[in-house]
Amino acid sequence: MKIIRNIKYLRTIIREIKSKNQLLGFVPTMGSLHSGHISLLMESINENDVTICSIYVNPTQFNDPVDFAEYPREYNSDIDLLQSLNCDIVFLPTDKTMYPENHKPIDYEFSNYMNILEGEKRPGHFLGVITIVHKFFNLIHPDRAYFGEKDYQQLWLIRLFTKKFQIPIEIKDCKTIRDKNGLALSSRNKNLTEQQKEHAQSLFLAIDSLRCAIKGKSYLNNKNFIDLKDQLVSQFLSNSWIKLDYFEVIEDESFRFVREIKHDKKYRILIAAYVGGIRLIDNMLIE
Ligand code: AMP
Repeated sequence: MKIIRNIKYLRTIIREIKSKNQLLGFVPTMGSLHSGHISLLMESINENDVTICSIYVNPTQFNDPVDFAEYPREYNSDIDLLQSLNCDIVFLPTDKTMYPENHKPIDYEFSNYMNILEGEKRPGHFLGVITIVHKFFNLIHPDRAYFGEKDYQQLWLIRLFTKKFQIPIEIKDCKTIRDKNGLALSSRNKNLTEQQKEHAQSLFLAIDSLRCAIKGKSYLNNKNFIDLKDQLVSQFLSNSWIKLDYFEVIEDESFRFVREIKHDKKYRILIAAYVGGIRLIDNMLIE
């Protein structure tokens, strides 16, 4: 596996790949790799001639300096893991490489959906995400890029971004990987104590219960829908361990907030909450 830290070497390798007409898959990560990342990597490795994984904790997408400082960083074990998976290239840039002195922020405000849910609770977050993804796309020129459904709003915005900016990269989505109790895997879970981890399962229980309840009904008017949500919030999310940020349902295709439930549409439940001081997100499709 090639370990690349500077852009000059990266460009040479990318040129080589392109000159051989090899299909290039790209998996951007912030490291501290777990089975969720591995599922993205395996899809890319299976579908492409060459897979490149980036590991970079991107400062501009963090609105909370404590979260940024405490974000787990495990570069050595990540490299060992990538090697064992037969990943071809890992790109490990520094801040100076990604944000050189002449870096000028671009105003990527291409959608109001950047400012709701995660965007509202973490101002500037999606601007940081789109900035770094665009930089990676420009440097790497992958044929396909792999993103997890776990960060659903991010995935949705990246799809919209590539469409609006006519970027010829296929965006592939990968299912959320969970632990045996349903908790969605996340690098931030490594900062949870065992007890906090048990309480973090409530996020999964709340969205899964709402999913089952909605699935069982052909129609829910606004009042019944709100009552159902309130009931699940008090059952699973109203205790001293959990601080709820949002618990919302959207129409899966349009990303619009839902007021009533009709049987002929696909919906998605999205949740974000702090457990201890750790912010976790999850979502689930209702088919
Ligand atoms: P991160 O390192 O958290 O920025 O995540 C890198 C990529 O892995 C993103 O596209 C995430 O959506 C995806 N990812 C993170 N956790 C999971 C998971 N539990 N299941 C599937 N994909 C995930």
